[in-house]
Amino acid sequence: MDSGYGITVLTLFPDLVREYFRTSIVGKAVDRGALVPRVVDIRDFARDRHRTCDDAPYGGGAGMVLMAEPLASALDSVDAKAQHVVFPTPSGLPFRQVDAARLSRKDGLVLVCGRYEGIDQRIVDEYVDDEYSIGDYVLSSGELAAMVIIDAVYRLRDGMLRSESIREESFQDGLLEYPHYTRPETFRSRSVPEVLLSGHHARIVRWRREQQLIRTARNRPDLLRHVQLDEAERKLTESIRDKESDDECNTGG
Ligand code: SAM
Repeated sequence: MDSGYGITVLTLFPDLVREYFRTSIVGKAVDRGALVPRVVDIRDFARDRHRTCDDAPYGGGAGMVLMAEPLASALDSVDAKAQHVVFPTPSGLPFRQVDAARLSRKDGLVLVCGRYEGIDQRIVDEYVDDEYSIGDYVLSSGELAAMVIIDAVYRLRDGMLRSESIREESFQDGLLEYPHYTRPETFRSRSVPEVLLSGHHARIVRWRREQQLIRTARNRPDLLRHVQLDEAERKLTESIRDKESDDECNTGG
C-alpha cells in the first residue's frame, strides 16, 4: 500500500461530499489513511456577509455564474496550483476508465464542483488541468460528478482492491464484462450456465471471453474498434451487430 492519496473537493454542499467519504469502502480507506479527503466550503471564501458566490453572466442570458474571487481564494487555500485540478463539466472530455487510471497515478487530486450555469472561465484557464464530463446529460451541480470521478479513481490505487478484480472488470481490456452468477445453482427455474459448473478452466475462460464479445457487440459496438479480435471473434461480433441492426429495422427503431 502506498501513502495516502489526497483528495480535495471544493463545493457549495460540503455535507453531501463529507457523507460520501464516511461511507462503505471509501470510508474504510479514509479510516486507515489510504485516502486523505479534504472538503472545502466555497462559501467560506465569499467576500460579503451574505456569503454570496454567484453573479449574473456578462453578456446577459439565463442563470448565474460561480464567481472567480471566492473560487480562486478557495483554490489558493489548498495550494491547488501545485496539484492536479479537475473540473467536472458537461462541456469536458468524456470521462473513461483510462482517465481514471491516469488520475490514480497522480499524487492526489483537487476537484472543483460547479453550480448554476457553471464557473467563471478565468478559473478554468488559470487552475484547471482536466475538464471531464461523466455523461451526456446535465446535473444541477458538480458534487455527484466529482464523486463519480473520485470513486472510479481511488479504487484503482495500489492495494485498494484485489488486482484480479480490477483486471477482469468492464473496460480494462476494452470490452464489457461477462455475466456473474453465485449460489443457488437454480433460481426460479433459471440455472447457472453448465460451463461454469464444469470446473474446466480453459472452457470457462473461453465462455467468458465470448460473453464479453456478445455484450460489447450488443451494447457498445463502438468499443470493438479498439480491440484486437481473431477471425472467429470478428465473425461472432459482426453476426451480432447484423442481427441487432435487422431487429432495429424490423421494429422501426
Ligand atoms: N450550463 C452548463 C452547461 O450547459 O454545460 C451546465 C451547468 S450544470 C447546471 C452545473 C454544474 O454541474 C456544472 O458546472 C458541472 O460542475 C456539473 N455538471 C453537470 N452535468 C455534468 C456532467 N454531465 N458531467 C460533469 N459535471 C456536470
